[in-house]
Amino acid sequence: MMPREIPPTAGLPPYWRDLWGINHAHLADQLSAQLALPAPQIECSGTAALMVALSTLSAARQNRRRDEVIIPAYTCPLVAMAVAHCGLRVRLCDLAPDHFDFDPEILAPLMSERTLAVIPTHLGGRVADVHRVAVEAAAHGALVIEDAAQALGAQVGEYGDMTFFSLAAGKGLSLYEGGILTARDSALRQALRQTSQSIIPQNWHRELRRCLELIAYTACYRPHGLHYAYGIPRKRALRAKDFLAAIGDNFPPEIPLHRVSRWRKNVGARALPRLPDFLKRTREQAQFRCERLRQIPRLRVLADADGRQGVWPFLMLLMPDAKSRDALLAQLWSSPHGVTRLFLHALPDYALLNKIIPVKDSVPHARNFAARLLTISNSLWLEDTAFEHICQTLEAAVQSAGAFPSPLADI
Ligand SMILES: *Cc1c(COP(=O)(O)O)cnc(C)c1O
Repeated sequence: MMPREIPPTAGLPPYWRDLWGINHAHLADQLSAQLALPAPQIECSGTAALMVALSTLSAARQNRRRDEVIIPAYTCPLVAMAVAHCGLRVRLCDLAPDHFDFDPEILAPLMSERTLAVIPTHLGGRVADVHRVAVEAAAHGALVIEDAAQALGAQVGEYGDMTFFSLAAGKGLSLYEGGILTARDSALRQALRQTSQSIIPQNWHRELRRCLELIAYTACYRPHGLHYAYGIPRKRALRAKDFLAAIGDNFPPEIPLHRVSRWRKNVGARALPRLPDFLKRTREQAQFRCERLRQIPRLRVLADADGRQGVWPFLMLLMPDAKSRDALLAQLWSSPHGVTRLFLHALPDYALLNKIIPVKDSVPHARNFAARLLTISNSLWLEDTAFEHICQTLEAAVQSAGAFPSPLADI
């Protein structure tokens, strides 16, 4: 049998024919029509989109002292790096207990006349409570930027001033690297375009490299190709206990900024019509599988609040304690079934952010979340038998956890 590897997230599978052929609409127009995004602009990454957003706010501010950006203490390290690159200060807000969203009681006192922006994050496609944040931010004259990097196609962007998405490899629709930026207000959208024009350079060398990477991604993104392109290097990193490399959290300090070519946008535009059906099928699979996982006692399955509709690149689970999580990973991390961790640490615990987050704020909930979180791919390639095998391994790992774990016992 050919070796297979399930990708850790359910990315929309690329087709060879996405690489050429006719386009009936531009990517931005199509995103606007299919996903109801107001006049989106395409940037070279989600991080670049965030930097355009932050630079726009930073240039427009009247009060120079308004230089703080509040972000969750557990999120992609690139978010903190983008804030620092824009000359702004990172303020970390701890998560609510056993949740990916801000703890409202911690968020409120962090906001002040120094707050430029707050970045609620739709982690793993789960919809964050942006409405509450927006009310609070408005009271302090701060703006809200929704981080929907992992949530293209979810019901987001309704309350935030701006929203960005990532088109990186494996994140739903992909240009290998790319980002989408949109804002509700048309004057703000105009300003975002102007910022992009002035700070994002043309760099054909970089762009050519991305084009080649996109071709390679198209060639490899199926279970057999992923065995070589993702499975083997990941297993090697795990054997060396280089977890940052295994997860892909080892970001270089420089953030590439360049314009995206028409060709790469066209590839995305040709794939996009397949996205709604793909999101529907992954949503159905996720519902079904979350039901199964909820039968496992003491396992917490993260879901959307009532009335909110997210997307499902993977399923997020909280184990009873760090020990049981690590015991499970010892069995399944190096398997080809798409079981992994999301971001390795809470932000203060990344060595690569030492300069950006010099004060090691106490963020117990984020640390606890990082220590107990585990993800299962929601790729349609993960077969029911493999999923059931994961569930049974989970059952055993949960049973082996301490009998009366206190939620904060492992910090
Ligand atoms: C991936 C990611 C980003 C950054 O997007 P890139 O396109 O990789 O630059 C930001 N925030 C979150 C939550 C992410 O997962």
